[in-house]
Amino acid sequence: MPITARGSGSSMSGGALGSGLIIDLSLMKEITLDHSTGRVWCGPGALRGDIDRAAQAAALRFPVDPASGEFCTIGGMVATNASGAHTLKYGSTREWVTALDCVFADGSRATIRRGPQRSSDTDIPPLERFEHSLRARLLEDGAAARHAGVRKESSGYAVAEFAQTGDVVDLIISSEGTLALVVGVELELAPVVGATSSLRATFADLDQVASAATAVRELGASVCELLDASFLKIADAGGALPKFMRGAMAVLLIEVEADDEAGAALQMKGMKAALTECGALSVEQASLPAEERELWDLRHAASPIIAKDPVLKSVQLIEDAAVPPEQMSAYIRGVRAALARQRLDGVIFGHAGDAHVHVNPLIDVRDPDWRARLESLLNEVTNLVATLGGTLSGEHGDGRLRAPLLPRAWKQPGALDLFRAVKDVFDPANILNPGVKLALTGQQPLEAVKYDPKLEPLPVPALVALETVARDKAYATHRLSLLRPL
Ligand SMILES: Cc1cc2nc3c(=O)[nH]c(=O)nc-3n(C[C@H](O)[C@H](O)[C@H](O)COP(=O)(O)OP(=O)(O)OC[C@H]3O[C@@H](n4cnc5c(N)ncnc54)[C@H](O)[C@@H]3O)c2cc1C
Repeated sequence: MPITARGSGSSMSGGALGSGLIIDLSLMKEITLDHSTGRVWCGPGALRGDIDRAAQAAALRFPVDPASGEFCTIGGMVATNASGAHTLKYGSTREWVTALDCVFADGSRATIRRGPQRSSDTDIPPLERFEHSLRARLLEDGAAARHAGVRKESSGYAVAEFAQTGDVVDLIISSEGTLALVVGVELELAPVVGATSSLRATFADLDQVASAATAVRELGASVCELLDASFLKIADAGGALPKFMRGAMAVLLIEVEADDEAGAALQMKGMKAALTECGALSVEQASLPAEERELWDLRHAASPIIAKDPVLKSVQLIEDAAVPPEQMSAYIRGVRAALARQRLDGVIFGHAGDAHVHVNPLIDVRDPDWRARLESLLNEVTNLVATLGGTLSGEHGDGRLRAPLLPRAWKQPGALDLFRAVKDVFDPANILNPGVKLALTGQQPLEAVKYDPKLEPLPVPALVALETVARDKAYATHRLSLLRPL
């Protein structure tokens, strides 16, 4: 029977949905901080926000900060290699995982750590198979299975990362529950930061935005986020856009971190000069916490407006591509053109410093041809990403949505064969989340879009429970407890 692990169910590409047995791990929430090592051991259901708060109490922090941090689980973050705004400086979940407690497809269980494998683990059948039949091949050939220049990767199996470290942990991270169920996670933590300062810069030209993002990254920015004209238009409609920004092509939001305020101020000087040199029309600075919050509020201005639209649905299907930084403006232009060809509006924003761009097309599912247009859009953007040497997923994972598209974006010779070999070694009977990462025969990307009016309605108790989650923003609530109080 297929087995699908599930945390909070917040992932974007249908990875936590499946037929068969869904194992909800979200109640395994324990968090144990080891003060002597500065590491934390978490159950798979521990929420990112709770882990960070536990760390902060010891003057430490978990610096991977997805926007969903208050409701996504560490199990889901490991499985998708989630990341956040601070990934620019601190990397994604992968960089902070030191050990994983795994249950494999045959029911065997092992804690695998970074570094040389302990001999006690070699009697675990999937690990034994891996050591004997695949380790050497991946070390030899894995390095080539990567999108050169791309800074964030959650697509395919991480064979290139494995080739670098030799750590099996790296294969399990971003495997989306297709190689093992993760039932425990050990994380390294970072020290809390002394001081931050922020900038908001407006641009009239996309190429200037791309150069500015590269410049501030090289100067050590901890965050560099993009709000494209499509985003600003919606923010303006909701009254959240300062007048002087009207008509801008894009805004960059930038943060620096330092040990103290003087250090932050010094970095700000260099950043401001670089932004002006790249052609910024305006640069605003904020150093006091309240001022910084106000500056960053613009980042959250579009979602509530889109959510209130009675007709248009924001559909995440081309939402996660990352391209080599020198291709970012070409990517955004290409996406805009593809949206226009399909007569669709869309909102473009994201992690400019990592050239990782979120795109949410806005769809009216009452239009008779909405599905054909969506499919054409996905098709065009997949080609665009492949042409620019990008990945289809920088942080959300392949899920059921992108699995059928992998052969088009993983053109590196032998990459798909290596992915298949990894799956076969760990899960030869294909019971762990089948159809995620590697597509099943005939699988199509857009099989079940939840807004499709033609889908069979959900059973009433499930519908009521899901409406409650959406209305109360109760995304961290254990779903079964809404159906039948435990
Ligand atoms: C509003 C919003 C904002 C978001 N912002 C971000 C963002 O900034 N950055 C980002 O990276 N993502 C973001 N996401 C996506 C999502 O929150 C992340 O992918 C998150 O890591 C998923 O965690 P989850 O607990 O909800 O996992 P789920 O959705 O339940 O599962 C995700 C995948 O992981 C597998 N899985 C879950 N738990 C385990 C386990 N214990 N062992 C093995 N496999 C497991 C599932 O089978 C599935 O394939 C956002 C989502 C929303 C709705």
